[in-house]
Amino acid sequence: MINKFLFCEGCYYDIGKQQGKLLSSEIRNNLAAFWNAVKALGRDKREVMENALKLERLWSSQRLEEIEGIGNGACCGYPELLAYNVYHDLFFPEECTVMMAAGKSSATGSTIFLKNSDKVGSESYVGPRCYENKEINVVLAVNPEGGNKIIGVAAAGSTALKMGLSDKGVATGSNISRTKELVKRGTEKDSIQIKALDRGALLREGLEKGTNALEAAQAILPSLLENPMSTPGNIEFADAHEGVIIEGSYLELATEIVRDEVAARSNRFVLLNALNREDDLSSICRYIRCRQLLEEHRANVTVEKMIEFSMDHVNGPGPNSICRHGTHFSEETSLSAAVMEIDGENPEKSKITIALGKPCHAWRAEEAHIALDMTMGTEDIPEGLSNGETWKKFYTEQPRQQEVKKC
Ligand SMILES: [Zn+2]
Repeated sequence: MINKFLFCEGCYYDIGKQQGKLLSSEIRNNLAAFWNAVKALGRDKREVMENALKLERLWSSQRLEEIEGIGNGACCGYPELLAYNVYHDLFFPEECTVMMAAGKSSATGSTIFLKNSDKVGSESYVGPRCYENKEINVVLAVNPEGGNKIIGVAAAGSTALKMGLSDKGVATGSNISRTKELVKRGTEKDSIQIKALDRGALLREGLEKGTNALEAAQAILPSLLENPMSTPGNIEFADAHEGVIIEGSYLELATEIVRDEVAARSNRFVLLNALNREDDLSSICRYIRCRQLLEEHRANVTVEKMIEFSMDHVNGPGPNSICRHGTHFSEETSLSAAVMEIDGENPEKSKITIALGKPCHAWRAEEAHIALDMTMGTEDIPEGLSNGETWKKFYTEQPRQQEVKKC
């Protein structure tokens, strides 16, 4: 995964085209990795593209325009880009840990939101623009005509978000939930035919349409009642005062309103607990540790505290700690993190602070993280954050030594 910063504006087609032009090599590498994964599962490329076209109607016109723009900008075919967007989450699900201190449960009285983005690596991620067998990601800032401005982290070529913030002061994140049913269904034969929604696309949809967390959730709930997410998982939205957490599996849907309270999610359900796989130790450890940290600091959570939580190595450092480390690229480990601080009075001044690389390294190095508000100034972005070099430097599975001694 190489992280880059990218600013795009205009109509959705233009936003896609700018992304396609600027990231054509990254997009091609992500597409190659995607098709390798499809092949490894014994699926036929043509069949996958045909099925994606059948599911096109589940996508909003804005997203389809953007996908078309990316395809034209990167000189890739639309059916190929569409298939990548439709099935990205099915083949490369987003793992992750999310924490929030909503409203009065933070030190400022306005919500502070964290996401650690974790991902497995793959043998299919190879080539000059890939690194350590990880997916190429970008930090995307979009300013669409007549729509909400958004800054978030995405995979190159994908219109979906891993995490993000809007100029209306709404933050979002997500996690896959490792349920018993997921193990059974996974990417089995009929999985590409199921009418299902991409979780990251729903995040984007909610941020674009909502002026607060409730509206963001309301924008996507009708479609979730009709079709499930492609894999079981959680979607979190938060504004200055409250959060909304949606848990969705194939046939179940549950919602939690987090008002002046703390909340967390790892790769498991809380409301739909009965569906969880019982042997997923990492998700259990991370959820308990998140709750412990948030309860201990209730009403005292600051951006700095959330950054500390993001680097937490209790139960590790390893796959079971919040800052996740591994010994092989195929393990799920933390690749980046973002802390969002919502300004209720002036939502455009809400801030997203993004660390590129392993949280315990990247948060401590000035060059590896950056804070941006939603007015979207571009002048202060260091070169290393734009060209991927910083991520390469701070992405290491080796835990920070001082932390190892402490734990
Ligand atoms: Zn760490």
